[in-house]
Amino acid sequence: EKFRGGLTKTRESFVGAMNELMMEYRTVDEEFFEELEDVLIAADVGVNTVMELTDELREEALRQNIKKPKDLQPLISEKLAQLLIKSEEETSLNMQPDGELTVFLFVGVNGVGKTTTIGKMAHQLKAEGKKVMLAAGDTFRAGAIEQLEEWGKRSGVDVIKQQAGSDPAAVMYDAVQSAKSKGADVLLCDTAGRLQNKVNLMNELEKVKRVLTREIPSAPHEVLLVLDATTGQNALSQAKTFGEATDVTGIILTKLDGTAKGGIVMAIRNDLDIPVKYVGLGEGLDDLQKFDPDQYVHGLFA
Ligand code: GDP
Repeated sequence: EKFRGGLTKTRESFVGAMNELMMEYRTVDEEFFEELEDVLIAADVGVNTVMELTDELREEALRQNIKKPKDLQPLISEKLAQLLIKSEEETSLNMQPDGELTVFLFVGVNGVGKTTTIGKMAHQLKAEGKKVMLAAGDTFRAGAIEQLEEWGKRSGVDVIKQQAGSDPAAVMYDAVQSAKSKGADVLLCDTAGRLQNKVNLMNELEKVKRVLTREIPSAPHEVLLVLDATTGQNALSQAKTFGEATDVTGIILTKLDGTAKGGIVMAIRNDLDIPVKYVGLGEGLDDLQKFDPDQYVHGLFA
């Protein structure tokens, strides 16, 4: 339900445009496909994804001798779902077995919702019975540490921090030691989000990762890139930059509730080949949901 609710804006604009299209065209012809491409591109599905999708639809329409736009509609949602679901397991988080510390690194530009997402995930994992700790690795942005502490309080988990300006790698080292000694199950690590200098970003992320790996050879178990759905194609270019800086294992797409262009999920999935694992659907503690491609596609159409 929440998932559906979060997609309301996208659904309203997308379904509206699709209905118009279905009414306007009597036959599935080239003009229809071009119009369909425009509708999908307007929803930020991404040009490459749209072209791939409509090429497949053209073929399928020919093969199945589909003439009426209405008869093509189920195929459109089916193909959208297929593009999103590359494999079933890929949206789950890489959790270590019980008794071993799982470490997730969160990366992303300032303002995308990184801190909020960490707070929400802490809350969720805690509700599942896990002992969670947070590492305040964004020592650069003013207020970042306090903000993480605020979320720590809200979700009732400890935050490991040092003073502003200190070395993030040192914070990570401390945090891992502390998490181990307190028997934590999961450590969620914040990082700085400045993109102005890609070399710095890369160096900092590499250093942080090196420290984690030195302490726990299999860590970090996820590098989760947080992207803001409302920034549309800009989110895609951020993903490319971070993808060059480090190995991103999953994407968390925030503020899906705040955009009518939820098609960006498709573009990200298809252009980057990195799975979208979670989506943010609001500002509250409970507004983080595992990404469900089926629900997503159905949320768009029904
Ligand atoms: P950070 O700089 O990346 O750590 O970003 P913050 O966590 O401070 O979030 C920036 C703003 O986005 C805050 O006002 C959050 O409440 C808001 N925000 C984060 N996630 C979501 C979401 O899923 N939906 C909505 N509507 N707002 C969100």
